[in-house]
Amino acid sequence: MSEAPDLDLIRDALSTSTLSHALKLIGDRWTMQILMGAFMGVKRFDDFQSWLAIPRRTLSSRLKSLMHMDLMRPRLYQERPERYAYHLTRKGMAVYEATLMTWDWEQRFGENRIALPTRLVHKTCGHGFIPQLSCEACGETVTLRDLELRLKPNPHLPHDPDAPMRTPKVTVTDGAMDHLALRMDRWTLMIVSALVLGCRHFDQLSHVLRISPPLLSRRLPAMVEAGLLSVEPDRDDRRRRVYLLTPAGRALFPYIALLSVWASEHLFNEPSSIRPRHKACGKAFVPRATCGHCHERLNAWDVRFETEGAA
Ligand SMILES: [Zn+2]
Ligand SMILES: [Zn+2]
Repeated sequence: MSEAPDLDLIRDALSTSTLSHALKLIGDRWTMQILMGAFMGVKRFDDFQSWLAIPRRTLSSRLKSLMHMDLMRPRLYQERPERYAYHLTRKGMAVYEATLMTWDWEQRFGENRIALPTRLVHKTCGHGFIPQLSCEACGETVTLRDLELRLKPNPHLPHDPDAPMRTPKVTVTDGAMDHLALRMDRWTLMIVSALVLGCRHFDQLSHVLRISPPLLSRRLPAMVEAGLLSVEPDRDDRRRRVYLLTPAGRALFPYIALLSVWASEHLFNEPSSIRPRHKACGKAFVPRATCGHCHERLNAWDVRFETEGAA
C-alpha cells in the first residue's frame, strides 16, 4: 500500500464523481437538515423554522432550490392566509438511506448536542435497529475494507469548475445542528474521500482536491480536532506528516457511498467515476442501507423514530 497514488487520476475521478456533485447540490448544512426534518415528519414552513432555528429567508431559498431539484413539492393546506406544507418527492425520498447514515454516525460519534431521535424502529420486522451498509448483489454487510476502489473518470459527468469551493461560515450562535454539519460538510467529505483513495500527505490532498494550501492548512487541524483524522510523522521522511482516517472518519464512508449512488441513480443516470467492487462476491458494489435486525432494505415509510422520554 506504500505505492505512490496516481494523483492526476484521483483528481479527475473526484472532480467528476457523483459524490462531488451531490454534495454541491444538497451537501450544505441547511439543506441536509431540512431533509432530515422532512424524514422525521416536519412539513410546514413554520415547523421547519422553529425546529431548525433557521432564518426565514434562508429556509425559503433552500426550500425553493429543493423544489427546483424536484426533491420536494409544495401543497397548499390553508387558503387565507396561504400556507404550504412541503412533501418529499420520490427523488427526495430516495435520499433517505444516506440521511439515515448521518443519524447513525451522530449516535456513535457525535456529542449528542442535537435533538435527534434516539431509536429507530423498523415497522416491517417490528424491531429497533441500527442501519447497515450492504451490497445489493449479495446482501452482505460491507465496510470499506471489503471493497476494491477502481477509478474510471466518466466522460459523461461534468468536471467541477476550477473555482475554489467556498468554506462554510459557521458560528457558535447558528442553529443547533452546526456541530454535525461542520463535520459533514462538503470539504470534510471530499478530504475523507481523497484519503480513502490513498492520499496521505498535505501536498497530495491539495493536488487532488484543488484546494488552496491556506484553506487546507486550516481544515486538516480542525478535522484532527473533531476526531476524524490522526496525524503522525511519515516513517520514510520525518519532515513530512501523514494524515490517517480514525474510526470516526472511516465511519463516514456509508454516507459517502449512499450519497454517491443516489446521485448516480437519481440525478445523472450515470455510474460515478469512483467504482467500488465488492471483493467477496466480485460484483460492482451498489450500496444499500439495510435493517441491522432483518437485513431488509430500508424505506422511509417503514421506519419509525422514537425519542427517549417521549410517549
Ligand atoms: Zn457483494
Ligand atoms: Zn428489520
